Amino acid sequence: MSELSISNLQVSVKLPDGELKPILAGVDLTVRAGETHAIMGPNGSGKSTLAYSIAGHPRYEVTGGSVTLDGQDVLAMSVDERARAGLFLAMQYPVEVPGVSVANFLRTAKTAIDGEAPKLRTWAGELRGAMEKLQMDPAFAQRNVNEGFSGGEKKRHEIMQLELLKPKIAILDETDSGLDIDALRIVSEGVNRVREQGDTGLLLITHYTRILRYIKPDYVHVFVGGRIVEAGGSELAEQLETTGYERYLAGAGPAS
Ligand code: ADP
Ligand code: MG
Ligand code: MG
Repeated sequence: MSELSISNLQVSVKLPDGELKPILAGVDLTVRAGETHAIMGPNGSGKSTLAYSIAGHPRYEVTGGSVTLDGQDVLAMSVDERARAGLFLAMQYPVEVPGVSVANFLRTAKTAIDGEAPKLRTWAGELRGAMEKLQMDPAFAQRNVNEGFSGGEKKRHEIMQLELLKPKIAILDETDSGLDIDALRIVSEGVNRVREQGDTGLLLITHYTRILRYIKPDYVHVFVGGRIVEAGGSELAEQLETTGYERYLAGAGPAS
């Protein structure tokens, strides 16, 4: 059983003038395969910083604590090594990849993660199947990665990767933002399919509660001021829907 373990993680963002601005103030979280966790918190609380630091983004400097995947030190790995170890971070490839089609990109990623190329015939079927389930036009596979993708296409591409690459742990940051209600449902169904297979641990990061109407997390963590301030079950998300984050903000220090 895979396990991502985040312990007392402290992270600063590197400002352009070289100064370090502390954002994460000691995050503790364990995500196991088969579990679905939601991190919810107000804007600017450091949710994306958490995701980016686990992804290995160079702008974020870890100043304390640890992140391990099945006991291996994630923070010592290159970005590629993190992906090969089984970590999926939706923001890992947010950029346009000129001249690389979706189909080639996915096959290359799959090959890198599995250590061998997928069999052409079965792979083509898997790719087609994944696209059908997400109600995507087959022509999408021939488009260049992220080139002119709409918000919804980016998110579907993200979930397509999730379904095809079968990571051990997946972190999805604001997967629900900018989706209309139909796209949200389709994307959520994709996440639920991955979840039902039971091999992936999911960490959904979100500002809104609406995606949690479609995906019921096993655990909800409230994230304020760079740390988890409360944890509970999916009922906590329902509470937040009515109360908002206000009651947590009083003791959280200056809002940034
Ligand atoms: P969230 O995802 O919860 O909205 P972020 O992790 O994006 O929060 O941001 C947390 C805090 O870190 C904010 O105050 C934000 O302004 C600051 N921050 C994040 N990235 C940078 C950056 N590149 N430069 C300056 N400040 C940043
Ligand atoms: Mg934000
Ligand atoms: Mg964010």
